[in-house]
Amino acid sequence: MDGASGRWDYEVAVIGGGPGGSSAATALARRGRSVVVLERERFPRFHIGESQLPWTNEILHALGARDIIAASGFVEKWGASFRAPDGAAERYADFQTALETPTPQTFQVLRERFDEILLRHSEKCGARVLEEHRLLDAVFDRDGVTLRFADRLGGNGTLRAGVVVDASGRTGVLVKRFGRHEHDPLLLNIAVHAQYEGIPRATGRRAGDIRMFTRPDMGWLWFIPLSDTVISVGAVIPQTVHRRESRPTPEESLAHYLADTPAAAPLLERAQRVSPARFDADYSYLASRMVGDRWVAVGDAAAFPLPAIRGRVLRSRLPRAVVLAPAVPRHLPRRRVRAGGKLAPLGNDPGPGGGVLRGGRREARSPEVRARARRSLERPLAFTRTAFGRRLQRSDGDWTPFV
Ligand SMILES: Cc1cc2nc3c(=O)[nH]c(=O)nc-3n(C[C@H](O)[C@H](O)[C@H](O)COP(=O)(O)OP(=O)(O)OC[C@H]3O[C@@H](n4cnc5c(N)ncnc54)[C@H](O)[C@@H]3O)c2cc1C
Repeated sequence: MDGASGRWDYEVAVIGGGPGGSSAATALARRGRSVVVLERERFPRFHIGESQLPWTNEILHALGARDIIAASGFVEKWGASFRAPDGAAERYADFQTALETPTPQTFQVLRERFDEILLRHSEKCGARVLEEHRLLDAVFDRDGVTLRFADRLGGNGTLRAGVVVDASGRTGVLVKRFGRHEHDPLLLNIAVHAQYEGIPRATGRRAGDIRMFTRPDMGWLWFIPLSDTVISVGAVIPQTVHRRESRPTPEESLAHYLADTPAAAPLLERAQRVSPARFDADYSYLASRMVGDRWVAVGDAAAFPLPAIRGRVLRSRLPRAVVLAPAVPRHLPRRRVRAGGKLAPLGNDPGPGGGVLRGGRREARSPEVRARARRSLERPLAFTRTAFGRRLQRSDGDWTPFV
């Protein structure tokens, strides 16, 4: 039980050990909070989501994990390459030239390794990590939360916590209990993906790029180098198209969409699939509630707008986990987290995370540079014109966290 009050086993219980959960757990543990992570799987476990953006660097740095990730042998990534449906010309985005990125080089990561490294780092920082522990139920009362879970042996257990972090990804255990994931009809896609060998890689600075091929139906393909030989290949397809075009198995559907994207044909001539193909569906949404009495959602549990705008996704997802570190503990002694209250923005709290992520950058930039950076962030992405995008901007409250 919590030393001060005897009311809780842990001050914070984090549900889910993916990047959202491990980031929250690490940030809190580094602030001296007692944290337990309940993760239903045993890591390493497969997960999609391999291509990082440079903003991740600052978050990893704030978590004390940047050097560990940098030394883990992941493919270096400096940018992205895009090819239009006619295949005529490939265009490049180089992070080096982006105003918003102080550290332009990032990584393509095998998520099973990346996520495990981050979860072990949470443990090293003092969080207790319970794998193969699936949350079954959470009962909230005035003084805390009682969590019931199934353990690896099939038994049930309970623990008491002061606050719960829903980092359960698309499962959204608490988000769906207190609200729902709301989908925007404009952003309904499916993705089908697998790993391949025999695909030529670009050379030099572009060798680690994510390469994207857009399709006339608003879908697109990704090619993400995961090692010298293995490339993750995925097709993002509007659900309306997939309803017409799907094939009996994920493998056949993926093969169909690859064959149906002529601009990518030169890459695929000798390609051999070396993993099963997998589907992901219904992954563009915004939670109708992200915060409540004694709970908060981070990562995919809270929102996942659309892979095509991953920049926005990461900027609103991972920072939220770090935001949480100063925000949650401040509420703990007050017994109740403000219902529907906003999380404190980074920079208000001088502890690790807040100062690193926001304060330093803010002071280092002139108003002109900041205004230019803000304008560049507010370019009219199709997404931001949707009602969904506008709501996310409003609900996030920290839409330009690095400017
Ligand atoms: C098609 C597609 C492509 C993507 N591409 C990229 C990309 O290129 N780059 C990128 O950065 N992101 C990408 N993403 C997004 C990325 O996969 C997610 O945003 C990221 O995994 C979110 O991390 P998280 O920790 O919030 O959730 P997750 O990583 O999903 O972690 C949630 C964890 O919670 C656990 N859990 C669930 N329910 C329970 C329970 N009841 N009890 C205990 N544990 C539970 C799960 O086992 C899981 O380990 C992509 C997503 C999709 C669908």
